[in-house]
Amino acid sequence: MKREVISFDKTDRIVGQRPEHIHRNPNPQAKVHEWACNSPYCEDLAGDHPDDGGPEPIVQGREPWRGGGR
Ligand SMILES: [Zn+2]
Repeated sequence: MKREVISFDKTDRIVGQRPEHIHRNPNPQAKVHEWACNSPYCEDLAGDHPDDGGPEPIVQGREPWRGGGR
């Protein structure tokens, strides 16, 4: 069986194999209107992309509250 290949843009925030979700920015001035992400910590999916000044999604395994890792 052929696997479906999903490609992601460089504005996407896909790390590892977790299922992704789609963020959408309702602001018509935004540079990035839709992007895929698979951070397990996102709650608000309607907001600015990091390129538009929004917060960078937290990567699982690199949570800032874990400390170290720098
Ligand atoms: Zn997200």
